[in-house]
Amino acid sequence: MTADAAPSPSGFATRLIAWQARDGRQDLPWQKTRDPYRVWLSEIMLQQTQVATVLDYYARFLARFPTVEALAQAALEDVMPLWAGLGYYARARNLHACAQAICARHGGVFPSTASELAELPGIGPSTAAAIAAFCFDERAAILDGNVKRVLARHFAVEGDPAGAAVERHLWSLARDLLPPSACDMPAYTQAVMDLGATLCTRSAPRCPACPVQTTCVAHRDDRVDQLPTPRVRKAVALRHAHMLVLLHAEQVLLQQRPPTGLWGGLLTPPQFDTPAALHAAVTQLTGAPRAAQALPFRRHAFTHFTLEFVPHLVVLPATALHAGDAALCWRSLAHADELAVPAPIRTLLRDLRDLRAQVAAPR
Ligand code: SF4
Repeated sequence: MTADAAPSPSGFATRLIAWQARDGRQDLPWQKTRDPYRVWLSEIMLQQTQVATVLDYYARFLARFPTVEALAQAALEDVMPLWAGLGYYARARNLHACAQAICARHGGVFPSTASELAELPGIGPSTAAAIAAFCFDERAAILDGNVKRVLARHFAVEGDPAGAAVERHLWSLARDLLPPSACDMPAYTQAVMDLGATLCTRSAPRCPACPVQTTCVAHRDDRVDQLPTPRVRKAVALRHAHMLVLLHAEQVLLQQRPPTGLWGGLLTPPQFDTPAALHAAVTQLTGAPRAAQALPFRRHAFTHFTLEFVPHLVVLPATALHAGDAALCWRSLAHADELAVPAPIRTLLRDLRDLRAQVAAPR
């Protein structure tokens, strides 16, 4: 970056804090507390997920698990339904493991420093810093995706922000910009988050309203749309799967997936690599070969690949299953919205409810 554009660290922080008090977000439920349990929960939920989506999940989760002890004592199977639909399910498993670690290692009391918090499951350095800044006034810098974008533009930092050298440079900038007074840390941390989320957005940033526009190099040089340097994207792999949708009356057969891996611990229709494997399973489960109706395929994008799956519908005259499997269970389609199922499966089950009106079970 050029020297004439460099703001003094306190100047940057001062302008952001004043702007946040005037124009920033003030009414988010996790802003009204310094309880590290609530702040931690919000930070984990907000990773990869929009505020508007998180609001309902946050309220439901706290109603069911109001304390870290309540979460630690719960079974993971009781936690997953409250996360179903939020995606990135490793977050929920880590959340549960982290609550147990806090109870086991720290007597149910959150550690108060970013370095101790970062040793807990699922808490990275930026999340640790956010909790420490919001709850304990620690002068710890955050560097999530939004803040990387702000700094990369403001200081015209070239290169992929996920690259090690660029990331080190951004961390250094983030630390240099912290306000000198620890008591300003909650306001400053909220301000830099708000700037990235509401003004310095990925597309169509609102520079005229930005409190640091006068020192922003990207704005001065008309390079806002070029920074941060776009990541070179690899071609997204496509995976294929076949799902057995076995219906009887208003019940659907679901299978609990292994605790780790894709959709770990959640319920989905039994999944197969090939139609032949699916038909063999139908015969084994129901005691006879049965026609399966292949429904239109569906797609779901994960971070590193896209899953294309074909639901195969089989309507049973009776629930008599011939092969027992502890992971299999019948669930009511009417209660699809309350099940611990991933978002695309919830959509499928809702569609099946409608389809049931048109499909008559054989007698
Ligand atoms: S002036 Fe524009 S590009 Fe620069 S930090 Fe502000 S919103 Fe981002």
